[in-house]
Amino acid sequence: MQHTLVYHHPTIAEISMAAFSENICKLKEHAPRASMLAVIKTNAYGHGVVPMGEAAVASGAERLGVTTVEEGVMLREHGLLVPIHILSSIVPEQAEVAITYDLTISVSSVTLAKRLSDEAIHQAKIAIVHLKVDTGLHRFGVEPKQITSFCKTTYHLPNLEWEGIYTHFSRADDGDWEQTEKEFALFQQTVIQLQQSGYHFPLQHAGGSSITLERKDMHLDMVRPGVALFGYTPDIRQEKKLSLKPVMTLKSRLLQVREIPPGTPVGYSGSYVSSSVEKIAVVPIGHGDGYKRALSNKGEMLVRGKRAKIIGTISLDQTLINVTDISDVKEGDEVVLLGEQGKERIGAREIAKWAGSNIDEILASLTERIPRKYIEN
Ligand SMILES: *Cc1c(COP(=O)(O)O)cnc(C)c1O
Repeated sequence: MQHTLVYHHPTIAEISMAAFSENICKLKEHAPRASMLAVIKTNAYGHGVVPMGEAAVASGAERLGVTTVEEGVMLREHGLLVPIHILSSIVPEQAEVAITYDLTISVSSVTLAKRLSDEAIHQAKIAIVHLKVDTGLHRFGVEPKQITSFCKTTYHLPNLEWEGIYTHFSRADDGDWEQTEKEFALFQQTVIQLQQSGYHFPLQHAGGSSITLERKDMHLDMVRPGVALFGYTPDIRQEKKLSLKPVMTLKSRLLQVREIPPGTPVGYSGSYVSSSVEKIAVVPIGHGDGYKRALSNKGEMLVRGKRAKIIGTISLDQTLINVTDISDVKEGDEVVLLGEQGKERIGAREIAKWAGSNIDEILASLTERIPRKYIEN
């Protein structure tokens, strides 16, 4: 069930549309010769796929990228007309809906290529496809060694338009340029080899946020930033490349504040025990909302501009914090879990570190149950 804002659920994610738009503009300026495919997969990294898709296009993104057909369909049903790429693969049974909704499909399977061709003939349409090359991630993609024979079987299938060819690097986020350059070179050789055999792909693309930020020489025809749109760079070293603004602020309110004597176990299994008289508070968010259980006894939140530690084991719907050292804390006070309060700030990178996770997971895990409030400026 999704809470809506009218019910006053105290935990909400505020989404700054101004920050998002600014990030897109900065990234576009940073990649002036490439077009932009804004990657808004996984519910736009937790920000809401439809509003972020609309905003991305309004801010100049030429294309959108998702990973499920459902997200693609949702964007179309909300009137978005730009090319929408499905960046992972689909199963043949999804060919029909993908073509009905004019989604751009990534292809690395002969079975899928044939099914798309059959379905496109059936619908009297042209299916737009991009060939995915595996240059080292070893996830989806055709291996360069087999790609010519792959094209022999699939390139001339009727009603398919091979609009593009692309790869996705395995270690660009880590800054492993030796490996990334190897993968890039392999990609370029593959494209040339295919051209020489008469297989042409007008749009060539390779990089996500890391490449957009750090390697202009690898932008090719199009860049595919994801997490950077939402104000975060995949690695901390990239923060000085471009000043991006975090788009999401996650906040809640204290539901209860109380004092406990020394030696009081707190929460399930008593994984925290107070060492003196302590003041604790309940925040209505839990791992059922996607607020990681791994933050138990590790994470922090902001109350009255100060940091309060998470104590005890996070439950499905509630998290306890220690507010002993913060004066005047009252029931109903605002708590910031992600974002700024007073002079303090907690970013997704910091939360990821506490949880032993990464920024993508921290943002994308936040469930639909948390209402999103879109702030226009
Ligand atoms: C997720 C994804 C991206 C975006 O990655 P970021 O590191 O978030 O920029 C780009 N391309 C493909 C194929 C992806 O799956």
